Amino acid sequence: MSVLIFIDQTEGHVKKSSLEAITYGADLAKQMGTTAEGVVLGTVTEDLSALGKYGVTKIHQVANDTLNHLDAQLYASVISEAATASGANVIVFSHNQTGKAVAARVAAKLKAGLVAGACALPDTSNGFVVKKTVFSGKAFANISIQSTLKVISLNPNSYKTVATEGTAAVAAFAATVGQPRVKVTTVNKITGEVPLTEADIVVSGGRGLKGPENWGILLDLAKELGAATACSRPVGDAHWRPHHEHVGQTGVQVAPNLYIAIGISGAIQHLAGVNRSKVIVVINKDPEAPFFKAADYGIVGDAFEVVPQLTAAIKN
Ligand SMILES: Cc1cc2nc3c(=O)[nH]c(=O)nc-3n(C[C@H](O)[C@H](O)[C@H](O)COP(=O)(O)OP(=O)(O)OC[C@H]3O[C@@H](n4cnc5c(N)ncnc54)[C@H](O)[C@@H]3O)c2cc1C
Repeated sequence: MSVLIFIDQTEGHVKKSSLEAITYGADLAKQMGTTAEGVVLGTVTEDLSALGKYGVTKIHQVANDTLNHLDAQLYASVISEAATASGANVIVFSHNQTGKAVAARVAAKLKAGLVAGACALPDTSNGFVVKKTVFSGKAFANISIQSTLKVISLNPNSYKTVATEGTAAVAAFAATVGQPRVKVTTVNKITGEVPLTEADIVVSGGRGLKGPENWGILLDLAKELGAATACSRPVGDAHWRPHHEHVGQTGVQVAPNLYIAIGISGAIQHLAGVNRSKVIVVINKDPEAPFFKAADYGIVGDAFEVVPQLTAAIKN
């Protein structure tokens, strides 16, 4: 009996959301009186044993190049094999793009109950009850998993990463890696920008910025903060900004530590993609803009005056 955490990596580096999943899995293991182990797929360049400081005692690595790119079916079969071999009865994923694609497949393979989008440690005092966000973060549900095997995917940014002392034993795991059913032919990398889903800070613009020619003030602020940039859907639709920056219900869902919304009204479909951000700052000239209700800090003012002043203040 143990907790197995899927450690997600990109280009050889462990993702930040995986550190949260490891801390969460390790705390859950402690609560259950058991140990936490990790499984990592593909070639990793960083020192995996150092992840022991987040609470895993052992990491099973399947260092097969075929697994360097996400193939949900392959990943699910390898992780299921690792879970069975390690005797895990809880498997933890981050609820990111990979976790969303793989966790449900693992649950189906192992006939395990799944809670996708958990936001707190399960209550194990009487059964196994997992709290998750529902209705785009507007409410919570407590779900009881009845099966022996359990799969949980953890919402990014909902559990604090804690590093202490410790190293993990890293062992090669000889899994059966089948033939991938999809082949990555080209990768078009957006260089020089902070990836939106991994960013600590996101600066986002809406129709209030009037046109693409005005984006310089937002880009200056983002550069000063080392932030990723995002936009509302109409901005993406009008091609003022690339589509991959569109956040919201129908776009990318983000959960940074700080989300700065400039000239965005705060429609429910926009909020659905950003309301898990730790701190929300809204800059809008209309004091009645709905976004202020979801904001931690608000500045009522003209973005063209406020944003350059904010950038200058940060610079100083
Ligand atoms: C099915 C469906 C799905 C959708 N999915 C998404 C989604 O995923 N993401 C998304 O963003 N939208 C989505 N939408 C659209 C959404 O409903 C809103 O229309 C959209 O978010 C509005 O974008 P906006 O806030 O940029 O523009 P507006 O609503 O036009 O708001 C502009 C804001 O800028 C302010 N402003 C104007 N000038 C200034 C200035 N000089 N300084 C400061 N503030 C200023 C205004 O007061 C206003 O609040 C969806 C809609 C539907 C129906």
